[in-house]
Amino acid sequence: MIQYKTNDEIELIRESSLLVGKTLAEVAKLIKPGIDTIKLDKIAEEFIRDHNAIPGFKGYSGFPNTLCMSVNEQVVHGIPSKKKLKDGDIVSIDCGVVLNGFYGDSAYTFEVGEVKEEVKLLLQRTKESLYKGIEMAITGKRIGDIGYEIQTHTEQFGYSVVRDLVGHGLGRNLHEKPEVPNYGKRGVGVKLKEGMVLAIEPMINLGVKDVIQEKDGWTIRTTDRLPSAHFEHDVAIRSGKAEILSTFKYIEKVINK
Ligand code: MG
Ligand code: MG
Repeated sequence: MIQYKTNDEIELIRESSLLVGKTLAEVAKLIKPGIDTIKLDKIAEEFIRDHNAIPGFKGYSGFPNTLCMSVNEQVVHGIPSKKKLKDGDIVSIDCGVVLNGFYGDSAYTFEVGEVKEEVKLLLQRTKESLYKGIEMAITGKRIGDIGYEIQTHTEQFGYSVVRDLVGHGLGRNLHEKPEVPNYGKRGVGVKLKEGMVLAIEPMINLGVKDVIQEKDGWTIRTTDRLPSAHFEHDVAIRSGKAEILSTFKYIEKVINK
């Protein structure tokens, strides 16, 4: 069943989502070759708790950390480790918090040092596809319209859309109905209405679409070991124009400095 939110509840989700954006910006300040992801995870957890919130992923289905940190061919759900980031890596960082009983959930893929041009483009175009999808997150459109835009935008460059993982409704629970695939057909699927809040999160591979779970029981990686990008926003369905509740502005202030 879809949980429709009141405007007051949407404001609370916005607060949670903004805290996620600020947390990712804190982490962004430290991303450079030589840092290990467990260090970044600790910074994020402290920052979230200092803001009277709870890390949303830690303990969720048994996930051990605050951030999902997925490097290069890792798509999502990577576990922070002592392994150091290297020049030329990319790292997708997904963060969730709970504040006032509501989740925020947002992700961004960062460049570490100097990244190859084809990988830079993958990140740029995946982020573009997120915003293309968000343009369809308005009343009267359907879930398939969002996926169609993301798929069409990314496949024109020869990239692949991950099928096994999808976006989702968001609220008092991290994962609510409906599922939001990053592929689809126009005019197909659940009809979008005011009160729905969706986490839209394209996961786009440079190579093939196929992914596999590592033996750690969490990390999802591409089968061809080519890189994958992930960007996620929380969005309230509105008439005429979607309302983005999360933000990358704090992150981009740090990385574009
Ligand atoms: Mg997420
Ligand atoms: Mg999500």
